[in-house]
Amino acid sequence: MAPTRCPACPDGMKGPGKYLCWGCWTGLSMAARRELKRRDRRAMARLQELYGQITAGVPLDEIRITT
Ligand SMILES: [Zn+2]
Repeated sequence: MAPTRCPACPDGMKGPGKYLCWGCWTGLSMAARRELKRRDRRAMARLQELYGQITAGVPLDEIRITT
């Protein structure tokens, strides 16, 4: 699979299966990354929470994953 565009920055590319490019991923808080790395049946809801906050313009280091 080819890399696709990162949803959180203008020209970052993310690898297959990744939520964000490396630069944006490391911009998230430790707590948010820990939640997003869990792969269970709520993982898709957490991903939607992440992308929803990005779309709303929340700074990466202020994104909170609560799902
Ligand atoms: Zn990015």
